[in-house]
Amino acid sequence: MFEDAGVFHRIGEGTDVVSKEMYDFEDKGGRTLALRPEQTASVCRAFAQHRPQTPWKVWYAGPNFRYERSQAGRYRQFDQVGVEVLGSDDPEVDVEVISLAWDFYRALGLTRVSLLVNSLGEGEERQRYEAELTAYLGRRRDSLSESARATMERNPLRVLDSKRPEDAAVVAEAPTMSEFLGSSSRRHFESVLGGLDSVGVPWVRSERLVRGLDYYRRTTFEFVSDSLESAQNAVGGGGRYDGLVADLGGPATGGIGFALGLDRTLLACDSEGVFGTTEGTVSVFVVDTAGSSGALSLTHALRRAGVSADRAFDGKSMKSQMKAADRSGAAYAVLIGPDEQSAGTCIVRDMADGTQTTCRIDEAVPTLRAMLDRRPATSTAPSTKKEAP
Ligand code: AMP
Repeated sequence: MFEDAGVFHRIGEGTDVVSKEMYDFEDKGGRTLALRPEQTASVCRAFAQHRPQTPWKVWYAGPNFRYERSQAGRYRQFDQVGVEVLGSDDPEVDVEVISLAWDFYRALGLTRVSLLVNSLGEGEERQRYEAELTAYLGRRRDSLSESARATMERNPLRVLDSKRPEDAAVVAEAPTMSEFLGSSSRRHFESVLGGLDSVGVPWVRSERLVRGLDYYRRTTFEFVSDSLESAQNAVGGGGRYDGLVADLGGPATGGIGFALGLDRTLLACDSEGVFGTTEGTVSVFVVDTAGSSGALSLTHALRRAGVSADRAFDGKSMKSQMKAADRSGAAYAVLIGPDEQSAGTCIVRDMADGTQTTCRIDEAVPTLRAMLDRRPATSTAPSTKKEAP
C-alpha cells in the first residue's frame, strides 16, 4: 500500500492524482512515501527492478487512496482489481486485456456497461495534439468555466473530460486526436478495433476519452455504466503505457492494463439488481417460549450442521418472536413452548403455508436438513439473477 512517492512524481507530475490528491508523508527514516493512488506505476517499478521474462502478465487487488472530494461513487479509499501485461506491443494483447474486462462485467450480469475506446497516439503525436489543443483552448478561454480554465493550465487534455454544461460547446468543437495519429498508431488502433470485433466485444469510439493519468499512449479505454450518475459512471478503464517502464529507469517496454473500480462496479451491480436481495437469508428461526435453553442449544446445533439459523433474545413473547421469525425470511420456524419442552418435542412450522409438524427435539436437526434439502434452492437462499463468477 505504501510506495516511494518518487515513483508517482516521476510519472504523473502534471496530473491531479499525483500533484493534488496524493497522500504523501515522510516516514521515520526520512523517506518520502505515498499511500498509493493507483497500482500500475508500482507494477512498472517492480518490472524495472526485477526484469522478469516477458510477456509478464500480472494482476493485483487492493485499496488505493486519493484525496478527492468524497461523494457517491468517489471515495478517498477505494478498491481496484487490475491486470497488466508488460513486454509486448502486439495489438492482440490490447484485445486480450480489454475483452477480459468486458467478459468479466458480462459474467457478473451487468448489461448496462459499455466500452469506450480511443487512441492517444505515440508520445510525439500526443505532444503535437496537446500543443494544438492548448492553442485552441487559449483562443476560447473566455467561454470556459473557471474550473476548466484552471485545468487547462495544468493539463489541457483533461478539459475534454469536463462534464460542465458551460464547457460543452468548446469541448465539442475542439480539435480531435485522430487528426494527429501517425500511420503506425493508426494501424495499431485499427487492429485493436478489428480484434474486438472478431471476439464480439462491442465498442464505441470516443475522441474525448482522455484518462486521469498522464502516462497513457495509443490505446485507451473506459467502461461506463449508464446505471450510475454520469459524473462517476466509469466502472473501470485502462490503456497502453509504453513509456512508463523506461521513465522508471528500466528498458523500453510496451505495456497495457486495466483497473476495475470495485466500489463502483458493486454500485452498478446494486443498481442493476444483479445479486438480488440479500435480506432474509436465514433458513430456520427458533422460537422458544419455554424459557429453557432450547433456543440456545438448537440454534447452535443447527449452525454446526451448516443450517443458517437465528433466534430471539430477552425472553420476548410468542407474538413478538413470531414477528421476528417472519422478518427473518426463514423458511421454517421451530417452536418450543412449555408443552413441547416437557414432552421433548418441538413444532416445525412452514413459514410459507403455515403447515406444522411435530418432531422429537433430538431429531430436529436432521429433520430440518431433510426438509430444506427437498425445497427448491431459491426458497432457502437469496434469489440471484445470475451466478457470480
Ligand atoms: P483510474 O485509476 O483513475 O483510471 O480509475 C480506474 C477506476 O477506478 C475508475 O474507472 C473507477 O471505477 C475507480 N476509481 C477511481 N477513482 C475512484 C474513487 N476516488 N472512488 C471510487 N472509485 C474510483
